[in-house]
Amino acid sequence: MQKYILSLDQGTTSSRAIAYDKSADIGSVSSQEFDQIYPNNAWVEHEPEAIWNSQLKVAKTVIGSIDGDIEAIESIGITNQRETTILWNRKTGKAIYNAIVWQDRRTAGYCEKLKAEGKHEFIFKKTGLFLDAYFSASKIAWILDNIEGTRALALEGNLAFGTVDSWLCWKLSKGNLHITDASNASRTMLYNIHTLKWDEELLDLFNIPASILPKVVDSIGIVGYTEKSIFGKEIPISGIAGDQQAALFGQLCWNEGMMKCTYGTGSFIMLNTGKEALVSKSKLLTTIAWKRGDEVQYAIEGSVFIGGAVIQWLRDEMEFFKEASDSESLAEAAEDNGGIFFVPALAGLGAPYWDPFARGSIFGITRSTSKAHLTRAALESICFQVNTILGLLKLDYKGNIDQINVDGGASANNLLLQFQSDISDIEILRTNKLESTSLGVAFMAGIGIGFYSEENLLKLNESKHNFKPEMDKMIRKNLLGKWNEAVKRAMNWED
Ligand code: ADP
Repeated sequence: MQKYILSLDQGTTSSRAIAYDKSADIGSVSSQEFDQIYPNNAWVEHEPEAIWNSQLKVAKTVIGSIDGDIEAIESIGITNQRETTILWNRKTGKAIYNAIVWQDRRTAGYCEKLKAEGKHEFIFKKTGLFLDAYFSASKIAWILDNIEGTRALALEGNLAFGTVDSWLCWKLSKGNLHITDASNASRTMLYNIHTLKWDEELLDLFNIPASILPKVVDSIGIVGYTEKSIFGKEIPISGIAGDQQAALFGQLCWNEGMMKCTYGTGSFIMLNTGKEALVSKSKLLTTIAWKRGDEVQYAIEGSVFIGGAVIQWLRDEMEFFKEASDSESLAEAAEDNGGIFFVPALAGLGAPYWDPFARGSIFGITRSTSKAHLTRAALESICFQVNTILGLLKLDYKGNIDQINVDGGASANNLLLQFQSDISDIEILRTNKLESTSLGVAFMAGIGIGFYSEENLLKLNESKHNFKPEMDKMIRKNLLGKWNEAVKRAMNWED
C-alpha cells in the first residue's frame, strides 16, 4: 500500500490538507475557505471553530480519497498562519473570544504606548521582534483586559492560550495536548529566542499569566497523537512549524546562508543564519526557523506588504486583465518600463522605511504610457521591494548570499523572476513544487518518523528552473536610482 504524510496547512483565508507520498508527490489535496470577520476598522477575526471545522473537513476528504484510507497515513504535520491568537477554556474546550488574526491592528495604540515608554529595545533583545500589534502578546493582553471573566478563568488555571498550531493540536488530541513548536512560539513576543524559555519579564510587561501558556516542543519529531475518535485511529503528530519557516524547510534551505522568497499576496524573505541568532541592525526580524532536540536553527526575516497584491489591484480595480497570470504577456508587450516607476505603498511602507503614511504612487507618465508599461512597472515594483530587503540582509549577514529559492503564486511569472535576478544581480532557483509550505511541514513530519531521509529529500533539489542576471551594470544602477527617488516622493503623503 502507498503510504502518505498528511500535511495540514491552516492559512489566513483557507484550510488545506495535502497527502504526500514517499517521493514527495501529492496523492490528494483538499481546501476550504472560511469567513473573515471585520468587526471594526482594522480589526480582523476568525471563528476558532470555523478554523477547526474547515481543517478537519479537508483532512477527512483527503484521507477518504486515498487508497487505504486512514491506514495509509503515517503521520501528520501542521503548518499555520502565524501570530494569530486564540484563548480558550481548558474545561469546556470552548474559545472565549474569536481568534485575533495577525493582520489585526486593534492593539497598535497599546504598542505605541509601550514604545513611548522605551520598551522596544528590551523586547527586541529577547524576542528578535519589532514592538508591533502584529505579534501575539498584545492580542492576548487585549482579550484578558476586554473580555469579562477571562482573568478570573486564568487565576483558576482554566484558561489556555495558543497560536493556531496549538489550537489544532488541542482539538486533534481532544484536549490532551497543549503545545506549540519553537518556531510558532518565537512569534508570540513572549518567548525568549536565546534562552528558549517563556520569558517572565515579558509576561510581566504584558501582564499575562504564565499558566495559560502551551508547552514548547520540537518542530521535528513525534510530539503527541491524535485522539482515536477523530480519524478512527491514533496518528502521530511529528512536524509543526509556522508557514514561512515551513516554506524555508520545504525549499531545503537547511544550511546557513540559504534563502527563500515566497511571492504571494506579500513577499516573504527568509535567510537561514544557522545556529546563531543574528540580531539585525537594519530592522529585520530574528526568528527561530525550527528546533529538533538540542539543535535550534535561526533565521532572519523581511517582508514586503504588497507583492502579488499589486497585480490583484490591476486586475480587480483597474480591470487591466482577467487572470493575474495574464500580467506576464501584457508586460512583455512593452520592451521596458517606459520610464514608469510604481511604488505600491497601498498599505504604507515596511522595512526599512516603516512609513505608514506613504501611499501608492506612479511616476514618469507621458502620453505614450500604456497599460503594458504600467503592468511592467507593477511587476518590477515587487522586485525592487524584495531587492531592498536583500540589501538589508547583506548588511546584517556577512556570509555569501548568491542564490534565492523562490515559490508562491506570483513566482510562476518568468518576467518577474528574470527582472528580480537582473536587478538584484543574483541567481534565482524556482522549485517545481510551488507548495513549499505544506511540503515543508510534510518533510518535517516525515523526517520525524523516519518516513523520509534527509539524504533522499536533498536529491529532490535537482529539478529547478533557474534565472541568471543578464542586466548591464549601468542600466541596473540607473533603474535603482530612479526607484529610490520614487520611493522618497511617495513617502509621508498622508498626514
Ligand atoms: P497567498 O498564499 O498570499 O494567498 P498565492 O501564493 O496564492 O498567495 O499568490 C497569489 C498572489 O500572487 C496574488 O496576489 C496574485 O495577484 C499573484 N499572482 C498569481 N499569479 C501571478 C502571476 N502569474 N504573475 C503575477 N502575479 C501573480
